[in-house]
Amino acid sequence: MSGHLRVIGLGPGAPEQITPQASVALAEADALYGYGPYLNRVPARPGQTRHASDNREEGVRAAAALRHAAQGGRVAIVSGGDPGVFAMAAAVCAEIETGPSAWREIDLEVVPGITAMLALAARVGAPLGHDFCAISLSDNLKSWDVIERRLDAAANAGFVISLYNPASRARPWQLGQAFARLRAHLPDQTPVIFGRAVGRVGEHVQITTIAEANPAGADMATVVIVGSAQTRIVGRPGRAPLVYTPRIGEQEPRMDQEATA
Ligand code: SAH
Repeated sequence: MSGHLRVIGLGPGAPEQITPQASVALAEADALYGYGPYLNRVPARPGQTRHASDNREEGVRAAAALRHAAQGGRVAIVSGGDPGVFAMAAAVCAEIETGPSAWREIDLEVVPGITAMLALAARVGAPLGHDFCAISLSDNLKSWDVIERRLDAAANAGFVISLYNPASRARPWQLGQAFARLRAHLPDQTPVIFGRAVGRVGEHVQITTIAEANPAGADMATVVIVGSAQTRIVGRPGRAPLVYTPRIGEQEPRMDQEATA
């Protein structure tokens, strides 16, 4: 009996931003594992068991779900946003790599979701319209040194940068330090977008600049997009400004460049 395990992305929070594929996968599961607040977003279904765990226990949760699936159950683990972006899918793969060989026989399916930076970008225009990257500011799993090197490299290379896990009660200084670092590479007027609880009750979006960006505006429910030198803010009468990064970069486009809509 090999069992099934699905790692399902719930999107940023709004019910209409859960994909139809994820909704079907949730309804088909006999057992759901995940962080309590994420499980609470899933409509109750009679007969389905729920196994809530703390946010920090990703490896333990992944192993519990794999053990359950190995016994032949239809098991699902839920993640906010996309399960492959700083989330459960990698934890499950790591447990399969190091765990009992029977876990490699489990039918594993990762069901994608809308990740936070895409939900925020859509709110303001197209800040991720050209090359971009995502960096988690959490130094729980990697050193702050590595994070600083990546910030320097990304800003120098002209990437728009999405910052996940920018701050928490236990990590209050990282975002301020990251902004200070980025100011050394970016023009003062570079747009910065804060998106708190995007797609959820209490959503708050703020557009500012790297010179003015106040790290106190972020908590663990916030994703921050730092523009590149090309990113622009377009004011509109009576409407929120647009923020976008033009698809034509610093250099002249080549004639053979792909033209896509
Ligand atoms: N898998 C998730 C990311 C998990 S890491 C995803 O794809 O979105 C947790 C971080 O994601 C948070 O600290 C925050 O930076 C970001 N985040 C997740 N949901 C968010 C939301 N609705 N609004 C703003 N940021 C969010």
